[in-house]
Amino acid sequence: MPELPEMEAWRRALDEPVRAFPVEQAGPAHIATLKTFDPPLAELEGRRFSGVERRGKRLLFPTEDGELVLLVHLMTAGRLRYLVAGGKGPKSPAFRLRFEGGAQLVLTEAGSKKRAGVWLLTPEAADEELAHLGPEALGLGSNALAEILASDSRRLHSLLRDQRAIAGIGRAWANEILHHAQLSPFALSGDLAPGQVDRLAEAIDAELSRGLELRERGAADKRVYRVHNKLGEPCYVCGEPIARVDYEEHTVYYCPDCQTRGRVLKDRRLSRLLR
Ligand SMILES: [Zn+2]
Repeated sequence: MPELPEMEAWRRALDEPVRAFPVEQAGPAHIATLKTFDPPLAELEGRRFSGVERRGKRLLFPTEDGELVLLVHLMTAGRLRYLVAGGKGPKSPAFRLRFEGGAQLVLTEAGSKKRAGVWLLTPEAADEELAHLGPEALGLGSNALAEILASDSRRLHSLLRDQRAIAGIGRAWANEILHHAQLSPFALSGDLAPGQVDRLAEAIDAELSRGLELRERGAADKRVYRVHNKLGEPCYVCGEPIARVDYEEHTVYYCPDCQTRGRVLKDRRLSRLLR
């Protein structure tokens, strides 16, 4: 589940290598993965990237000549790999770029559903593609967060994950952030006291920075997450077991002691409500 810390760690790792050599061969790409056909992928061949940028959970690879931008969104199951020359890659990746000299950038996606996407765009079209995104989560700050929370009263877990409101947070980091801020995932954004807004802003920065630092060192999920996917394990603050609740299409992890004053949250899974 790559979110801001994972994608930013990738950005930093790929920034140097992708500009070392021009693209020799762009593609093949899975038909469901490549979201654009004009300009064609072959337009990348012979061009060099100027590095890697990130916006929310997406990576952008602009060409040095300023004419094209390759945009990558991994969604839930997509993974990027950079293979040095001679490195053995997957047989049929969802997308592949080969650089002169033999290094490759490959996108793979587990499972049969292909949801990850690759777009080849002009810089103007890339701006349009990203225009709906809210401000970056890391470094957002109390004032900007207060405005977002007040603009629409919604459950915190759902609001934090809404890329139009704040860009970069998904369900794993929403769990970590809300636990750090000692706030219920179901609390309404409009109900927060100013002190709680400050705490949430601080938690967003603290948790995303912690995640980024660990990911840069190559840490795996088990070590990076302290609440997410930790059902029944002791809370790192109070020692009580972490609980889990279904919410919409997501599974939310939280500590009843630290976040909901001991209250156990009831499932709000859509499929169950509709029954
Ligand atoms: Zn706790």
